[in-house]
Amino acid sequence: MKVLVINCGSSSLKYQLINMENEESLAQGLVERIGIEGSVLTQKVPGKDKYIIEQPMADHKDAIKLVLEALVDETHGVIASMDEISAVGHRVVHGGEKYAESVLINDEVMASLEECVKLAPLHNPANIIGINACKSLMPSTPMVAVFDTAFHQTMPKTAYIYPLPYELYENHGIRKYGFHGTSHKFVSAECAKMLGKDIKDVKIITCHLGNGASLAAIKNGQCVDTSMGFTPLEGIAMGTRCGNIDPAIVTFLQKECNMSAAEVDNLMNKKSGVFGISGVSSDFRDIEDAAAQGNERAILALDVFNYRVREMIGAYAAAMGGVDAVVFTAGLGENAIETRLDICKGLEFLGIELDAEKNNVRGKAREISKDGAKVKAFVIPTNEELVIARDTKALTV
Ligand code: AMP
Repeated sequence: MKVLVINCGSSSLKYQLINMENEESLAQGLVERIGIEGSVLTQKVPGKDKYIIEQPMADHKDAIKLVLEALVDETHGVIASMDEISAVGHRVVHGGEKYAESVLINDEVMASLEECVKLAPLHNPANIIGINACKSLMPSTPMVAVFDTAFHQTMPKTAYIYPLPYELYENHGIRKYGFHGTSHKFVSAECAKMLGKDIKDVKIITCHLGNGASLAAIKNGQCVDTSMGFTPLEGIAMGTRCGNIDPAIVTFLQKECNMSAAEVDNLMNKKSGVFGISGVSSDFRDIEDAAAQGNERAILALDVFNYRVREMIGAYAAAMGGVDAVVFTAGLGENAIETRLDICKGLEFLGIELDAEKNNVRGKAREISKDGAKVKAFVIPTNEELVIARDTKALTV
């Protein structure tokens, strides 16, 4: 069985074709600049040259048509016909309170996704457009929606209710939802395997540290808290997002700096985080380089980031009444050796101690805690596409 995984953004589309017999990735690709000048598809197939198609793509339907052509291309493709694609799994950012699990897409699901647009106005419309485009090109192929929010639906009300008038939750759905759910789910399950324990018997803190970053507290296999909230802006500092700040700063900026709501929104999402503090870049590699050359704001940006992750690990150990394992994943979590060491400095009182030698690893699953440390620490590469493909298979065979 082969599953096509689709992740649609507003002008981009990532895809991967996975052979579910051995869970191997057959092809992966990226379409960029959909609907704007310079549309381009790039496909990578293990053992073959990179395949690049530059041609105008007016919309996501054009893009998906081209993806299917690339996958069946005689020279660069990996399948003889698109009939070999048994099912399509779509990443959907927001499933609201309705979806705690992935779901087979039908008309009722599509209507629910539309209802969730108000909760994720930047993301869900692109996901819906992608699903509709696939449905029109592959009308008889079953499709599954896999939600970023679903894994966090087990949070207790004490964790997800904001101290705001309760009517805002009832009337507008204003509550913590959490994101990166497929990643937290995947790495926590892998962590339990590496611990040699049933996930129902362990308390795990997962740190998904990429350009967007979030932590989750996972007790006995269920998410009990996560750092992103109503939107992916809440939580720790990120590449360009501010994370938790005093909410009064928003009205201060509007009143004192004459900024509009849209300008404040843009400042908090695009101009803040380690980029805002350092003024250098949102990419941690650039900031690390600048810090190594003595740039004080770059050093401060890294210190603030690491402090906020450390603080959140402490908070989640408290939320769960202890912790058995900490997992680092995503671009930074998997690769940034110094960052992991720095985050864990000062957490020895909890039993978290990294082994500098074992921690000297990038992009590979490995235990990185000191021998005998009370809390085990791991690097575990995330694989959101595989979770989507597994859920798609489970719901369609
Ligand atoms: P992601 O959003 O998961 O793709 O993560 C992307 C981020 O990971 C980049 O912006 C970098 O800041 C960070 N990253 C990737 N590789 C490294 C590395 N070798 N060292 C430090 N940071 C890295």
